[in-house]
Amino acid sequence: MKLTDPPRRQFASDNYSGMCPEAWAALAESNPGHEISYGNDAWTQKASDLIREVFETRCEVFFVFNGTAANSLSLASLCQSYHSVLCHELAHIETAECGAPEFFANGSKVLLLPGANGKIDGAAIQHAVNKRTDIHYPKPRALSLTQATEAGTVYSVDELRAVTKEARHHGLRVHMDGARFANAVAALDVAPAEITWKAGVDVLCFGGTKNGIAIGEAVVFFNLEAAREFDYRCKQGGQLASKMRFLSAPWVGMLRDGAWLRHAHHSNAMAKRLAAGIRDLPGIKIAYAVDSNAVFAHIPKPAVQALHDRGWKFYTHVGGGEEARLMCSWDTTAEDVDQFAADLRAIVTPFVPP
Ligand SMILES: *Cc1c(COP(=O)(O)O)cnc(C)c1O
Repeated sequence: MKLTDPPRRQFASDNYSGMCPEAWAALAESNPGHEISYGNDAWTQKASDLIREVFETRCEVFFVFNGTAANSLSLASLCQSYHSVLCHELAHIETAECGAPEFFANGSKVLLLPGANGKIDGAAIQHAVNKRTDIHYPKPRALSLTQATEAGTVYSVDELRAVTKEARHHGLRVHMDGARFANAVAALDVAPAEITWKAGVDVLCFGGTKNGIAIGEAVVFFNLEAAREFDYRCKQGGQLASKMRFLSAPWVGMLRDGAWLRHAHHSNAMAKRLAAGIRDLPGIKIAYAVDSNAVFAHIPKPAVQALHDRGWKFYTHVGGGEEARLMCSWDTTAEDVDQFAADLRAIVTPFVPP
């Protein structure tokens, strides 16, 4: 393999993709000359201001290297060590962060809630909060929601308002894992404020990586009190980039002309195209509503193997069952989608002799 030959695009994850041109251009623009380090630079200021514009409010913004850090550190800022965090049983903070939320919060326990389609509802929150109220059990303090969810679904504005209302009623603060927040905004076609601070979200981990940035997520505090000393938490957690402009400049590239939403609309549309292309094939069943850029599909095991043999990479362990998870990216093309669908069709269509 020559490292200069671009490898084929895959459906394994939206973090398989490279940087989008807008992020790349801004990164290059930010390179010449010297800038103040540790976030006191013009690019970080600009990126933070653009995020405040997007959310139409005064919020505190911090850039960290990845989503695990964004989630863990922001949850730690909402909880004491004896508190607990309620989340869906498929939540990334539970299934894919190696205990980092508990670690960075010095022991705050993550408690798992069931829920159809990757979503939590008010009844589940009520049940979890009321299950135990004695001093021997970690006191529920935060609700963590993922938007778009790990199942590729999206909480509607009403669903979101209902769960955050229930959370508030029980004194819980609300954290949103928005690794795919852009896809949710694109899917709902709403102002970002409507599904964050106006719906009672205290802190959002705003994902950049899966939407076309190389490295970096923005932690956006709408609850300014919760943001106090978060800079120290980032530094102690090894998340304060000294050359911060290289984390923040790509955000300027994404936000200044709306690329973040364009890319999300595109990856969502590719997922819809993919679902439509495979939905009616024999033995194939789409597991969840295709609201964002993910398609979860039941594919017979031999067909999964045959797809892998044809060079397609994708996961079958992240949807709670054995469904294949097919993720579309900002750079997934209609041809990629159609090629995958054609390969699957060829594999699962029984051979009929002439
Ligand atoms: C990808 C992802 C993250 C971030 O993961 P990192 O690998 O730590 O950057 C967080 N939440 C969800 C739901 C994700 O899919």
